Amino acid sequence: MQPDKECSETSQAGTTPGPPRRLSNEEKEALIRRFNEGVLLSNLLPFMAPGGITVTEIDCLCVTCGQAIAGTHVSVIQSEFPPGVTTFDCIGVCAPCRAVSKFLYRFRSNGVIETLVGHRWVIKQWKKEQRRWWDLAGRIIAGLRSNSRPS
Ligand SMILES: [Zn+2]
Repeated sequence: MQPDKECSETSQAGTTPGPPRRLSNEEKEALIRRFNEGVLLSNLLPFMAPGGITVTEIDCLCVTCGQAIAGTHVSVIQSEFPPGVTTFDCIGVCAPCRAVSKFLYRFRSNGVIETLVGHRWVIKQWKKEQRRWWDLAGRIIAGLRSNSRPS
């Protein structure tokens, strides 16, 4: 099983990530339950974010191998919290390496997108004319949706 060094807690900022560890069976079951509760990212897009920005793609990169995870393998729980903010709580399963990655996105009405990467919040200002959201590490993944989608 994969290391699960990601954490979606906001209180972890500044802490040093621990060594990778194996998941217990309970944790695996909880992950599977969580995955089944959500909506597939591929079914959510395109998505109208607060402020009238249309999100056509979200790049979820596997924390273990760095490859983009297809929207059919990302489960999203969408919420409107905090008020006026749309939050995507995502969990993705990488088809090639079976690792589970967690992603948290907050879309604000002023075009700000906050992403939790590991233990850090990354803040991006979304330009209205931008049709595609580049991934959080600043890497540009072009065309991955077309060539990485598993059958
Ligand atoms: Zn992977």
